[in-house]
Amino acid sequence: MIIAVDGPTASGKGTIAKALAAHYGLPHLDTGLLYRAVGRQVALQGGDPDKADDALAACDFPDAVLSDPELRTEHTGGLASRVSIHPEVRRALYDRQRSFAMQPGGAVLDGRDIGTVIAPEADVKLFVTATVEARAERRFREMEDRGGGGTTLADIAANLRRRDERDSGRKDAPLAIASDAYVIDTTGLDRAEAISAVIEIVDSALKARAAKPR
Ligand code: C5P
Repeated sequence: MIIAVDGPTASGKGTIAKALAAHYGLPHLDTGLLYRAVGRQVALQGGDPDKADDALAACDFPDAVLSDPELRTEHTGGLASRVSIHPEVRRALYDRQRSFAMQPGGAVLDGRDIGTVIAPEADVKLFVTATVEARAERRFREMEDRGGGGTTLADIAANLRRRDERDSGRKDAPLAIASDAYVIDTTGLDRAEAISAVIEIVDSALKARAAKPR
């Protein structure tokens, strides 16, 4: 079974994807981490994230970059969003994501284009969203828990808006809701409520599929 979880930054999609993977016993890939690794590697190489050649050269990042704590910062998220615009970068990361999705038994992947580009045949597609205010608040609290990041709530909200615009406005694989995706708005939900809502969605989607005559 392949489960595609798409949505904007800090919508709760990562938490939801992880919980679904644990619930259904499936491996999970956070595809945003790959774009973050490319963004981080461009910076380490002294390149320009807005230049396709520099960004492409960073796609061969060493595996160690994937566990660099810098990957989780807002700064690296911004770099990821800039490198992800280049079709060359998206192509370079495609096979890795596609083979993860196609492994025997299935997988859960979260990102921006899983249900539309990476695994359009996914058994269940979820699009997780929330208001910018709620997402900024969550990100802010996460940063405070980690000891504070020196940014204000307003800065985070402005940053999220910029990233949403860039991710939705790019030509290649923009952040978009697949026509057959279930949309879940996590604005008023806590973690446990969001997780039980998506498990219910996945269970009923699977039941409906099983009942359909082939
Ligand atoms: O999800 P996360 O915030 O870690 O993603 C960082 C950036 O990577 C996003 O803003 C987006 O531009 C890019 N991304 C993407 N396609 C994906 C996953 C992430 O373009 N499948």
